[in-house]
Amino acid sequence: MSISRRNFLKGVASSGVVLAAGVPAAEARMSKELPPDAVGLLYDATLCSGCKSCMVNCKIHNSVPGGALYKDALVPSFTDSVLCRESDKTEQMKSPPYETTGIKGNDGIWDATQDLSGSTLNIIKAYRSGTGEKKDTPVNGHSFLKQQCLHCISPACVSVCPAGAFIKDPKNGIVYYEAYRCIGCRYCQIACPFNVPRYEWGALWPEVRKCQLCRHRLAEGKYAACAEFCPTGATIFGKVTDLREEAKKRFVMKPGTIFQFPLNTLGSKETTTRPVATYADRVYGLTEAGGTQNLMLSGIPFDLLGFNKDIPASALPDLTWKYIAKVPWVFLGVFLGGTALHLITSKKGQDSADSEKEDRHD
Ligand code: SF4
Ligand code: SF4
Ligand code: SF4
Repeated sequence: MSISRRNFLKGVASSGVVLAAGVPAAEARMSKELPPDAVGLLYDATLCSGCKSCMVNCKIHNSVPGGALYKDALVPSFTDSVLCRESDKTEQMKSPPYETTGIKGNDGIWDATQDLSGSTLNIIKAYRSGTGEKKDTPVNGHSFLKQQCLHCISPACVSVCPAGAFIKDPKNGIVYYEAYRCIGCRYCQIACPFNVPRYEWGALWPEVRKCQLCRHRLAEGKYAACAEFCPTGATIFGKVTDLREEAKKRFVMKPGTIFQFPLNTLGSKETTTRPVATYADRVYGLTEAGGTQNLMLSGIPFDLLGFNKDIPASALPDLTWKYIAKVPWVFLGVFLGGTALHLITSKKGQDSADSEKEDRHD
């Protein structure tokens, strides 16, 4: 038996803490081992040019508005650039997958999004030190970094979700979200050691948003859009076991060695040839929080890039719903507090929309 958001809310309202009847146990929603067919991404910051094609195409292929670019702003210039595949010029650009919201008289806007959000599932940020001259150098250098869900092998978001809305696919290991189950408690946000899930505060009926590794595209025989549309090979898609080997191989290579880096997917015939940079630190994701399916390499230590250096190298404590059910006050506080905040912010949004309307009518 599954639990719907409406039924769950009714239960909370009537009895205070009637929770989780029929919700699949966290153990049933995730295995703690890496599935043999697990897929993921390898992001190598030393190859990243900061072009943000991954951000733009993440939005296009996941029907997420706003953020990096409004889609209608892309049409005049973007379709001529190397960042847009020939197939997209007809298929995607002619039929926008979401409502466009360009300013009247101006075919859209650039939006310099600062962080992950309900409408940004993947973000490229920049690191700069001193003069910022040298790429991938901690002092007087610069780098880019990519933030998104890392698809943990043992995901805390799945283990804490009382409604079974977060699930880890037992076959490919993708951590995904089913909105119809979500009760809006946002435990997933609190539990994620990488600060990834975001709540759609501005929506009337908000959902939690995060990268789902383009799961819908896998079902169509495609793969992660951010990897498919990365022009430099900085983001590649593949089997996690192979990506791990690739990352470890790069990590120990002598800096300056000429290497053929695959583009888009591991094993692709399309490659880019360039010298190997000096990698700092470690392969991020091999051990963090028990390991993640998305891996990262960088020339700059990861803590300087803003990644939390205190994440343990083992799976996080088992924060299961079994445990949460024993502290219902915490749950109730988060749930009611969050709901009140949502109502207040929705009301504010509505008031300001109403006053804007009135201003226009005056
Ligand atoms: S990074 Fe956070 S949201 Fe993504 S699977 Fe891990 S715990 Fe869940
Ligand atoms: S895998 Fe898909 S959803 Fe995730 S960041 Fe890449 S394009 Fe976005
Ligand atoms: S990961 Fe690839 S697509 Fe994204 S900014 Fe870097 S080079 Fe561009």
